[in-house]
Parts: sequence; structure tokens; C-alpha cells
Amino acid sequence: MGIIRNLARNLTAIRQHPIRNHYTIIMSRQLHASRTGGVDKNVWVEFTQLAADYKAVNLGQGFPDFSPPKFVQEAFCKAVSGGPLMHQYTRAFGHPPLVKSLAKFFGRIVEHEIDPFEDVLVTVGAYQALFCAFQAVVDEGDEVIIIEPFFDCYQPMVKMVGGKAVYVPLRPKEGGTVLSSGDWVLSAEELASKFSPRTKAIVINTPNNPIGKVYKTEELQMIADLCIKHDVLCISDEVYEWLTYDGAKHVKIASLPGMWERTITVGSGGKTFSATGWKVGWAISAGHIMKHMKTIHQNTVYHCATAAQEAVAQGFEREYELFGTAESYFQQLPAMLHHKRKKLASCLESVGLQPIMPEGGYFMIADISSVKVDLNDQNSKDEPYDFKFVKWLTKEKGLATIPVSAFYSPEHSKEFDKYIRFCFVKEDSTLDAAEGILRKWSDGQ
Ligand code: PMP
Ligand code: GLN
Repeated sequence: MGIIRNLARNLTAIRQHPIRNHYTIIMSRQLHASRTGGVDKNVWVEFTQLAADYKAVNLGQGFPDFSPPKFVQEAFCKAVSGGPLMHQYTRAFGHPPLVKSLAKFFGRIVEHEIDPFEDVLVTVGAYQALFCAFQAVVDEGDEVIIIEPFFDCYQPMVKMVGGKAVYVPLRPKEGGTVLSSGDWVLSAEELASKFSPRTKAIVINTPNNPIGKVYKTEELQMIADLCIKHDVLCISDEVYEWLTYDGAKHVKIASLPGMWERTITVGSGGKTFSATGWKVGWAISAGHIMKHMKTIHQNTVYHCATAAQEAVAQGFEREYELFGTAESYFQQLPAMLHHKRKKLASCLESVGLQPIMPEGGYFMIADISSVKVDLNDQNSKDEPYDFKFVKWLTKEKGLATIPVSAFYSPEHSKEFDKYIRFCFVKEDSTLDAAEGILRKWSDGQ
């Protein structure tokens, strides 16, 4: 009887859905937690689906449409056929061969001894490394400084832990044409003004997604000085670390004096070996920070796919031996992308879309303000202009890209709605197909 009375109290209505023929239960109490509010929209979910629905040529979501290098594919196959244990759980915080090779590889780069079992955590992609970082270090009410434009997940991840995101923009240099991502700069005074007694962390992303800015040592030193002065942590997202062009050099902020102790460096096997679907990522940090990230990890996913970790470990072993040589994939991939970047830039220029040349990463943004398109019949009137433009381009012309205002805070997105992002880690045939669409459009056909 009690059960029936409870049901009657909680159940306001049970209705049969007219189309799907299932029952919708409407409860009188709110079932969802409030942390899901305001973070329900996701640019990747929305625009990846749109690209698929319209079978568009896809220069949107950032993933290679070519295969990973043979050596990691073979390592994966070997792992999968390597006996029963390759199909079972491995060590929770990272498969021992992988944490050892990451520690060896990155220890040489940061010139700091990295303890594979204390200082490294293997995660489900860089996403989970970021998630663990925010969960482990940010308390309710803490402030986290985010440099705009930023990879979109930082904002909801900070919000979900009850932190407060404080934004500081990269601004195009004044007086002069902005041709390169290096022309987008961070004002030292403006950044300094954002630090407060509540600041817990700053997030940086170099090479940056979406602009492609590669922070110079002086810029990183300026950020590092502020972190040390205010006793703040730095979460450094370096998933595109191997992809730099025209002499730009990737520098790890963790390698600057006094920064190892206060930096969480995030990396991605998906980006490193062109295998985004494997979702192997990592965080590297001093053991005293890492132990809290491990606490989050062990109580959320606990562990990542063993065979994929084994393959990434083999990849790093190979790269350790070949580092700096022409055979290294970390030389070959940027060399290949250097051509694709040029190809895309000249295509965009030829149709009157002014690209910003990225110094790193695999994205290029272009100014769409000179393009005249009537977007009035796009349904959602409140959306930023670039969202409407990208939807129109996907639906009407069959070319998928990503709106750049998605990389801004809700407060600032409307001010930065005149750029769209193109991904160039694609087969030449895909880039040719995109060029065909743009040319036809610009010729008025
Ligand atoms: N950070 C940045 C800057 C990214 O572009 C991405 C997208 N790959 C991620 C983190 C997440 O990487 P992963 O696919 O390894 O989770
Ligand atoms: N990092 C990739 C990008 O920027 C993909 C992100 C995603 O699919 N969630 O395009």
C-alpha cells in the first residue's frame, strides 16, 4: 500500500508518447542534478551530427581521416593477439609499460626526473586528464583563469566543480593586418589584473585550439612568474605539442624554473599518433598533485583500455629511439601537415576568406565578415552569426566547419562571431573536395 501511495504522490502523469509508442513518466520532483544545467549544449555533438546528416565534406571536428602510422597499428594488433592479459584490467593509474615510456620520454624533454608510478596518470583521452585535474584541484568558489579562445570543455568542467571561470582574451595585435596566430597576444597587465586571492589555477593551451598560437618562452615565463607570485597551479593542455610550423618551437611551461611543482601537463595519444578513437591520454605532474588526480581517477573510470595503452607505449619507445631524426613520426606528421596547411590557406585566400596562419596544431581560422550571405531564414535567431553561417555552409553547400565563438565564454561569444575554423588534418582528396565547393560558391554557381 505504501508503495502505491508513494507512486501516486510522485507520479503526476504517465502518458504514452504518440510517435515512439513508449511511456513518458513525469515526476513531480526534479530528477536531474543542478550541475547539468547550463552545460547541456556541446558544439561537437551538434556539429558532428549536422555534418553526418548532410553528408558534408568534413573540415569540422578535429580528427585525421587517414590511418595512424603502421608502427602503432601493428603494435595495437600485436597487443590484441598478445595473450589473455592484454584483454584484462591493467594497473589502474596506467599500464606499466606506458607510464614508464612516458616518464622516460618526457623526463628527457623537461630535463626533470619523472617517476613513472608517482608522477604519471593515464586517462581516457586528454579529456579525462582535464576532468581529473579540475576535480582534484578546484573547490567550490575557487577561480580558474581561462585564456580565450579556449578548447570548449574547460568552461563546463570548471562550472561542474562549482568553480568560477575568469576570462582573459588573446587579442589580435592593434594597428596592422593580423596574418598569423602569433599576432594574437596576451596583455601581461590584463592577465595580472585577473589574479585574486581566490585564484586556484590557470589553464593554458599551446599550441592553441582553435587559433594555432604557439606560446613563446617569454610569454610562458610571464605566466609562470604570475603563477609563482600568487601560488597558483597551471594546467597546461599540450595535446598538439608535436605540431609546429615555420620554426615555431613548442615549450613546456613545466620546464621553466619553479614550474614543475605547480604544473599539470596534459597530453593525448590520439593527437600524437593520429588515433583519436583510441582515447588514450595522460597527465604528468609532481606526485603531490598527482595523488589527488589519482583519487578522482580511481573513483570514476578506474582504468583505461589495456591494448590501446600497450600500443601507445610501443609508439613512444620507437619515438624515443628515433627522436630528432627524419624517421620520427614527430617530424613526419608536422612535415605532412605543413603542406596541407599551405594548401588550405591558399584555397581560402583565393575565395576571399582571410585565413589566420596557425603556428601550430591542425586548425586554421578564417574571417567571414566580408562574405555576404542572407542567413535570415536560419531558424535560431539568437545564435551567434558564425553558428548560423556554419549551419548554412553545411546544409546549403555541403562543407562542415566549426564556429569560433564556441571557443569563447557565453559572456563573450557574441563579440567573436566573425571567424570559422577549418581542420586540415585531412587527406588531400578531402581538402580538394572542400576547395571545389568553395570555388564553385565563389564563382557564383
Ligand atoms: N585538448 C584540446 C586542446 C583538444 O583539441 C582536444 C581534442 N582532441 C582535447 C584536449 C581532448 O583530447 P582527447 O581526444 O585525447 O580526449
Ligand atoms: N579536439 C577536437 C576538435 O577540436 C575534437 C573534440 C571533440 O570531438 N570533442 O575538433
